Amino acid sequence: MTTPWNQRCAQRMQWMKGSAIRELLKLTESPDIISFGGGMPAPEVFPVEAFRVAADRVLAKQGTKALQYSTTEGYRPLREWIVAQMARYGIESAPENVLITSGSQQALDLLGMLMINPGDLLLTERPTYLGALQAWRAYQAEFITVPVDNEGLQVDLLEEALCAGPKFMYILPNFQNPGGVTLSLERRRQLIEIADHYGVPIIEDDPYGELRYEGEHLPPLVVIDAERLKKRARPAGNGQPYYDEHAPTNGNGRAYMRGNVIYLSTFSKTLAPGLRLAWIVAPVEVIQRCTIAKQGMDLHTATLNQMIAYEILAGDGGNAFLPGHVRLIRSVYRERRDAMLAAMERFFPNEVAWTHPAGGLFLWVTLPDYLDATALLKEALEHKVAYVPGTAFHPDGGGHNTMRLNFSFCEPTRIETGIRRLGEVFGRAIERHEAEARRAEPVLEPAF
Ligand code: PMP
Repeated sequence: MTTPWNQRCAQRMQWMKGSAIRELLKLTESPDIISFGGGMPAPEVFPVEAFRVAADRVLAKQGTKALQYSTTEGYRPLREWIVAQMARYGIESAPENVLITSGSQQALDLLGMLMINPGDLLLTERPTYLGALQAWRAYQAEFITVPVDNEGLQVDLLEEALCAGPKFMYILPNFQNPGGVTLSLERRRQLIEIADHYGVPIIEDDPYGELRYEGEHLPPLVVIDAERLKKRARPAGNGQPYYDEHAPTNGNGRAYMRGNVIYLSTFSKTLAPGLRLAWIVAPVEVIQRCTIAKQGMDLHTATLNQMIAYEILAGDGGNAFLPGHVRLIRSVYRERRDAMLAAMERFFPNEVAWTHPAGGLFLWVTLPDYLDATALLKEALEHKVAYVPGTAFHPDGGGHNTMRLNFSFCEPTRIETGIRRLGEVFGRAIERHEAEARRAEPVLEPAF
């Protein structure tokens, strides 16, 4: 008898729906479609030559080690490099606080496995990252959302949502995917205070922090949270170094990090997403449990990839590669963002609004309320242009008239053509609506 596979699937498959993003990514394979749909870095900035040289060196110097199984926590020199790199942004940690993951996507899955029971409520921004929703739906999470505006999460609406008792909050402070908005410093501080007051931890997802095209760098939530703890441990002005007697140490007399924030970042946007290399920074209790969960998932992240990345980042030439490479990425993406914003200004009807991201890969478009971005996608595809409809990023409904556009993948001339096509699609839809509204208007009898 042939197995009826549908009947063999676990119940959780009911909650794991296919992703609109994945379906759309298939479209980018067709060269005549200008896709603003995926979240892909520009292939032109991939450091292919640096990878070739680094791979050569790793295989020549440590070939057998690179091809062997390794520890679940990750390649120690790479973890140490990450600790040093993050210290530049004020994140104080030790290698024991760092777990290398196979992409941040795996970090989201691990944290879901660690923390979510069926029916648990999670608080996310609205809109939020679709990949996190996908990962956590598998654990039967439910979602409560707080909207973002141009300054990120609307913190003044947070307390009411926290009263519903979410297990944790998922926050994207920098150039949020999908909205492109950034959480202001004042709101970051308020958020940390509120999280502390209500005892609800935060997962801070920061894949784009390095990709800022204008304005000042803002401290990550994990840093503001650490400052909160320091203030508490050391009354202001007594000059004593911070020391928390309850914090575990790593045997070198160094206190491990504590606090309410788990921080995630990735090499996907600064080196290459095909590496599948990212990291979690968290209190040791979290890292140890994630390590156990990861063993069951993939034993460890690819040794070869970790060693090649380390060779690029810290090998022969010291730390010289990444800063210069990130400068290149910033200049290419800034130009593309500006090309998209200028084209929108030129080609989008007045009724359409959009965000002005200070960094990252995405911006967010809002159509008039009477239009449906999902229905319009079919028409857009007929005109060879694609986007992701906004409903996908709204776990508790809404967003029918919104969409996410990616500006990193296409060159400026293609961006301009694609935006012109989209502007035409929107313009026609608005005209159709207005014509229908005119037809529906009652014909007034002339009054004598
Ligand atoms: N979080 C966010 C907010 C993202 O935008 C992405 C990638 N699009 C990820 C996580 C996953 O990144 P990675 O390639 O490291 O798995």
